[in-house]
Amino acid sequence: DGPEFQKALPIIEAIENAGYEAYFVGGCVRDTLLNLQISDVDIASSAMPEEIQRIFPITFDVGIQHGTVMVLFENQTYEITTFRTESKYEKFRRPEKVEYVRSLQEDLKRRDFTINAMAVNRRGEIKDFFDGQKDLEHKLIRAVGNPEERFREDALRMMRAARFMSQLDFRIEDATREAVVEYHPLLSKIAVERVRDEWNKLLIGRNRKIGIKFFVETRLFQMCPGFQNKEDNLVDLALFPMQFQGTTIAWIVLVHFLKMEDTDIESFLRSWKCSRKEISDIRMGVHALKIRMQKFWDYPLLYETGIEIALQVEEIIEGFGLTSQTELLLELDRTIPIHSIKDLALDGKELMALLKIKRGGPFLGEIFEDIKNLVLAEKLENTPTAIKNFILKRRMIYLDEI
Ligand code: ATP
Ligand code: MG
Repeated sequence: DGPEFQKALPIIEAIENAGYEAYFVGGCVRDTLLNLQISDVDIASSAMPEEIQRIFPITFDVGIQHGTVMVLFENQTYEITTFRTESKYEKFRRPEKVEYVRSLQEDLKRRDFTINAMAVNRRGEIKDFFDGQKDLEHKLIRAVGNPEERFREDALRMMRAARFMSQLDFRIEDATREAVVEYHPLLSKIAVERVRDEWNKLLIGRNRKIGIKFFVETRLFQMCPGFQNKEDNLVDLALFPMQFQGTTIAWIVLVHFLKMEDTDIESFLRSWKCSRKEISDIRMGVHALKIRMQKFWDYPLLYETGIEIALQVEEIIEGFGLTSQTELLLELDRTIPIHSIKDLALDGKELMALLKIKRGGPFLGEIFEDIKNLVLAEKLENTPTAIKNFILKRRMIYLDEI
């Protein structure tokens, strides 16, 4: 049971009323049995995608070729996947084509781990063909079937094992572990975005230490961008005494421990296919952390960093056992004269009028940069009069440069 299941029950009933089977499956069953918050309710059904589309008025095609249809029901979306096997694997990645099957058991057999291979029907009965409940009780990650075959079929599963160890604070069953040790090189065949998604979940998991330890000991890390021979650095990250609340802060600490040259950070993050925004946030955080280790925040550093990243840096500082002063930082943010160039008491038009010039250019940006720096250094007041006087005094110099 659980409110999420109750809410989705009419979906199962609608599919059954149309003459097919339908079950809650995968992560939502696992998390419910563990009394954890469910991230999303997934449904498996014997109905074909086209049949699902016929049953529900509003559906989205999110991967019909993989047998998945998204259904909108009471402001919530649900993924309904047709029972299938994944028979022919190519190049250790998930196949392009899928084969539909008519039985739930066949569908559960293709799932990665026993704890993810359980289903629940509308009466709340658990279908557990691979002793998933027993493994949940023993906190064990165990491949469904032969682990070597399963990792050869889809090498991402090895990374998922590490992720679930961290996320759930689980151990791994011996044969499953041995298979990862043996097949770890196959992880290099997997698209980096998929590896990154699992790595991110590992990083913010409740037992990052156990996840990273496994990731290092099995040599999976050697297959990841920029981690070659960074074993000790990753161990530092594992042992860092802090639960990361989000991925940005986790990556800031990661990059910090990797001890990279500033100039290499961007290409490292690019090789992990991080977004522009992530790259800029992480770089800013790493830079600010370095400076913050030497001195406290001031207006220029806070302006450059932004309060959001600055607060995360302050949390990291605490992780290092240094005294964080979040209150003082927030006070600085309240009193900072400007948050952006737009907050200056003089705009571009007014500046041009003052300099008696008709056309703008890059030099305007440079002048604003000077003004901004002086205002942040509290050497110039952010008022129209103060800024005008300053510019008039410097007018000759500025006009020379134009
Ligand atoms: P989360 O709570 O992070 O969403 P999850 O177990 O739901 O965890 P998903 O990636 O959403 O993970 O996958 C849903 C289900 O699909 C899994 O529980 C598992 O049964 C199956 N699955 C996902 N990825 C794979 C894979 N690579 N190989 C086999 N089965 C998989
Ligand atoms: Mg899920």
